[in-house]
Amino acid sequence: MSADLPTAKTLPPLTPGTLYLVATPIGNLEDISLRALRVLRECDVVAAEDTRRTGQLLKHFEISKPMLSYFQFNEAKRSEEILERLKHGEKVALVTDAGTPGISDPGERVVRAAVAAGLRVESVPGPCALVAALTASGLPTGEFHFIGFLPHKSGQRRKQLEALKEFAGTLALYESPYRIEKLLGELYEVFPDRTIVLARELTKKFEEFLRGTPGELIALVAKRSLKGEFVVLVSGEEDVPTDNADNADETR
Ligand code: SAM
Repeated sequence: MSADLPTAKTLPPLTPGTLYLVATPIGNLEDISLRALRVLRECDVVAAEDTRRTGQLLKHFEISKPMLSYFQFNEAKRSEEILERLKHGEKVALVTDAGTPGISDPGERVVRAAVAAGLRVESVPGPCALVAALTASGLPTGEFHFIGFLPHKSGQRRKQLEALKEFAGTLALYESPYRIEKLLGELYEVFPDRTIVLARELTKKFEEFLRGTPGELIALVAKRSLKGEFVVLVSGEEDVPTDNADNADETR
């Protein structure tokens, strides 16, 4: 495989009538890809979850582009508009606030509609908190189940966790910092012997991985409050260590 980076002369132009799903940094701006920057520069319009936030990102990279807002509560209406634009040959870049569109973020609806309409969809891969957390967690990566955010209601949360008790692979969840203690309590009830990995503030200055059983992590959280963004990983049914050597007081 050639290690040469493509130059502006060798790169093919963007394809008209294509929806580009552009992954953006989850904390560290260096994680934006060269291709993401080119797509953002060369597209006709950027569909953004939050135009103010994406505006800041574009400004940082000295890109000026028309934007339209595309978020959870206007997805249906905006999807139609995006489809019309694609049918007229426009190149539309879809970005969310951070990470990969469609992963616990808007995107799925317009992608499904575009695919159903026979339109072209391209992924411009890059940062994704799930992948960053899982791959550095030290837990098995071969088989995993991504839950995204659990529902807010206690009964529903518990039911969903219980249903995953038999799953052999690693479980991965997103959780808000306000509910991390609640989640650890629930994991203590449902998965008391499993190894939990809290992947906190990935790609940012205070990134850390906290490992231990739910009980060990509850003790840790009682000593220091944990802020920031989290991905929570739970070792699979078949990956319970006989001697849980991880020391939850230690950050690795
Ligand atoms: N689409 C995004 C992705 O590709 O990862 C996820 C968006 S979702 C609305 C936001 C959640 O992702 C956060 O609540 C947190 O659970 C997780 N997350 C995002 N950035 C993170 C980071 N830097 N460190 C840890 N977790 C992060």
